[in-house]
Amino acid sequence: MSIPTRAIGVAFGGLVLAALGALFLLPGLRAGEETFATAKVAPSQPTEPVKKTDEEWREQLSPEQFRVTRRAGTERPFGALYEQFKRQGVGAYHCVCCGAKLFTSETKFDSGCGWPAFYDPATATGIHEKPDHSGGMVRTEVVCAKCDAHLGHVFDGEGFATPTDRRYCINAVAMRFVPAGEDAGDGGDGGAESAPDLGADSGDVSGD
Ligand SMILES: [Zn+2]
Repeated sequence: MSIPTRAIGVAFGGLVLAALGALFLLPGLRAGEETFATAKVAPSQPTEPVKKTDEEWREQLSPEQFRVTRRAGTERPFGALYEQFKRQGVGAYHCVCCGAKLFTSETKFDSGCGWPAFYDPATATGIHEKPDHSGGMVRTEVVCAKCDAHLGHVFDGEGFATPTDRRYCINAVAMRFVPAGEDAGDGGDGGAESAPDLGADSGDVSGD
């Protein structure tokens, strides 16, 4: 009774603002290393090859994203991003560099290797596979077809009980996850869908 309600209101408002600030600022502090890149709406799909200088890529990407995608690096297995990947639900995985759609959650499987694994790409033209003789091994490198970002490697015939028995072993830091919207639908197999207009109309939330 002795504290004016207006003072309580001001103090409470300050707390709310501080909490909101923390929510928005904290995930940004280590973006790229500790937080899986995500987007609410699918990025527009590049129709032409995407070519940028190293300087332009460095400006756009975190140091770790640059090291992996533009320098064919490999993130450490069982990292924070991999743990987040395992918990992600239905959605699509896009190139963190150019936004091209690469994989969907439909072909995700648990390989136990410590990196995100898929048994098939989202489309046959979304990725390129190249022979890779680095490190004294013969492997097949997987890159983004649009911007040539290094994504990881693909391995055949390892005995996984998947439709293809291929393991696309992909660096989590090379991808951006776009969760499926509520209206994305699950009536078809989605084969022809390329860029659903997720969340385009979210203005009228409360009705009356
Ligand atoms: Zn790309």
